[in-house]
Amino acid sequence: MNPSLTGYYAGRAWLAAGPPNGLGRPPAAGQPRRVGGGAASRLANESGGSRPRGKAGKGPSGRFRPMGARVGRSAANGSGGGAGFAPKRGEEAMAATGGRRCRRLEGETARAVLANADTLLFDCDGVLWRGEAALSGAPAALGRLAAAGKRLCYVTNNSSRTRVAYTEKLRRLGFPPAEPRHVFGSAFCAARYLRQALPPGAAAYVLGSPALAAELEAAGIPHLGPGPAALPGPAPADWAQAPLEPAVRAVLVGFDEHFSYAKLCQALRYLLRGPDCLLVGTNRDHRLPLEGGSAIPGTGCLVKAVETAAEREAFIVGKPSRYIFDCVASEFDIDPARTIMVGDRLDTDILMGNTCGLTTLLTLTGVSTLEEVRGHQESDCPARQSLVPDYYVDSIADLLPALED
Ligand SMILES: [Mg+2]
Repeated sequence: MNPSLTGYYAGRAWLAAGPPNGLGRPPAAGQPRRVGGGAASRLANESGGSRPRGKAGKGPSGRFRPMGARVGRSAANGSGGGAGFAPKRGEEAMAATGGRRCRRLEGETARAVLANADTLLFDCDGVLWRGEAALSGAPAALGRLAAAGKRLCYVTNNSSRTRVAYTEKLRRLGFPPAEPRHVFGSAFCAARYLRQALPPGAAAYVLGSPALAAELEAAGIPHLGPGPAALPGPAPADWAQAPLEPAVRAVLVGFDEHFSYAKLCQALRYLLRGPDCLLVGTNRDHRLPLEGGSAIPGTGCLVKAVETAAEREAFIVGKPSRYIFDCVASEFDIDPARTIMVGDRLDTDILMGNTCGLTTLLTLTGVSTLEEVRGHQESDCPARQSLVPDYYVDSIADLLPALED
């Protein structure tokens, strides 16, 4: 345990008032208890903590718009459609049934959309690279965007790397140089959230990676928990009597290869102390695809295990929660009307971008497919409509022609 935990009880006055938005706490008596749910229902929870749902939200930049209000659209993506390019394979112009419509980004439309943008937010895996290999043409596309004066930020749910580690990977794979402050990983954002929500000296019990611990360290938040843990005895009575650190006032769940029953047990015991102990998750990605069509369980599985045991819902900092965008907007002067979110997942990248009033661009180099887009687009369900991007490209290398002088 970090020795800097002394003085924790100086923060007791704050505990009576609760965290800034009440999220991560158990429901009040008589309120329904929700655990999990679909992407849209999750977003409703995650985005509604500090601002009423469906009303104008105002972030640090003061530029947020009413949810659902679309901004940054070129005329070519308006209701008239069809301006500037012809469909190629019969799938490019996907007619909607009255809601959002997604179109291939190319030609003059691409030039206009990119000219209107001053900031691009990139998801990483499946957009810039797969594993340790950059996607063909991706470094060149970002190089041209940077040369054109665009601000490039990196927004990822992966909690297993620090900001610094991401800048090193970008450099290693040939992308334009980035500073750590341009990287918004869920580990950094979780540490930022806890720094805001916890009283001075309060600690976090962490189910996560060394990178998550490092970001907490950088944020000055005492923590314990990373690494393997064994049950403290042979019987349940032993498990319920393992020592607890009195300074812990949050359980933080990220990707943890050492996740175990012992850790789950300890997390529950901290959370059973009551609403003064927050429950925070880095993201809900439930499956991480691997090359060759395989997959491994994602952080969402671990978050759900803790939620189920604790019978309460976690506050999620990663996409599709708008908290991760709030982190970007607190660092830079972001105008949503001039910002493009580029991602490969509809239920995280695109949903977050749509919710925050950004122009959204799906790349088909990762998880989501055009068939899924079409299914959502043809649905009358508003929650599914919120998963439809404004544009798509086969790869961000497709942006290169629009970036030529
Ligand atoms: Mg991705």
